[in-house]
Amino acid sequence: MNLVDHAKESGFVALGLSLSKKPPFYHAFCQWIDANKFGQMAWIKRHRDLRENPGTLLPGCQTVISLAYPYSPLKPRTPDGFTVARYCEPQRKDYHTRVGEKAKRLALTLKESYPDAKSRVCVDSAPILERSFAHRSGMGFVGKNNMLIVPGHGSYVFLAEILTTALLPGGQSEHMAEPMKEPMKDQCGNCTRCLDACPTGALEGSRRLNASRCLSYLTVEHAGDLDPKAGKRMDRCILGCDVCQEVCPFNPAEKAGKASLPGITEFLKMDEGTFKMRYGQTALSRPGLQRIKRNIKAVLT
Ligand code: SF4
Ligand code: SF4
Repeated sequence: MNLVDHAKESGFVALGLSLSKKPPFYHAFCQWIDANKFGQMAWIKRHRDLRENPGTLLPGCQTVISLAYPYSPLKPRTPDGFTVARYCEPQRKDYHTRVGEKAKRLALTLKESYPDAKSRVCVDSAPILERSFAHRSGMGFVGKNNMLIVPGHGSYVFLAEILTTALLPGGQSEHMAEPMKEPMKDQCGNCTRCLDACPTGALEGSRRLNASRCLSYLTVEHAGDLDPKAGKRMDRCILGCDVCQEVCPFNPAEKAGKASLPGITEFLKMDEGTFKMRYGQTALSRPGLQRIKRNIKAVLT
């Protein structure tokens, strides 16, 4: 079975290959850093050189295999009508682990054809411009909302990469990119729905995100108190923000999911032990209980 068939069988909805060279949006990334649009994420400044060249992450890297794994378009919600961003999938293991395991199994299949090749799997775990490489591979395009959009599927996907020292000729299949094809053309056209809908003005232009105004960043990454204005703009979403994806015509229309989280009163009363037992293996464990409580209080203020 070839790599593309393995990827499909593992549940990936897109795969693309690109040469391990400076990624296409590297210059824009450096401008973003220089403009200090990254909020408190100072760590992001540290590894410009690693982001410029995947060969610094895996010596001898020749090919970047970009992968997209879907998450549910149903927004997880509480019985009292509050929500968290879709990618949290609070009933499932943290996607870093889940998708990472799948990508590692896929990397093992490379060994059949390239026994001497070395590989490294990344799922948000290494400084790599993942959307840039996905774009370069031709499997999707980066929308004005800064998300990777896979036409026919949308942007509700986790991205992963396999860096490999093998120079792959590639493969092809439905939604799967042809070998080393041209980057996909921007398909946003005149649409500005995401820019218009962002509740905080964090999208300051096409693909120009000011993280310090973004609810996704503020509710997950930001330490310390939230500006009361942010709480008002969160609507009833207590972790993350999907607004700029919900309005995108490439994504499926919103449908209500079943309540899969406790009510906010229960969250506010929850102790660390209970949280750890219920959500310690999930993506909710990254922001943690205290940040979730802080966000709930901000929404209620
Ligand atoms: S995640 Fe929310 S706050 Fe951030 S850019 Fe998108 S719509 Fe704006
Ligand atoms: S909402 Fe419109 S402009 Fe924004 S990413 Fe989607 S298609 Fe592009």
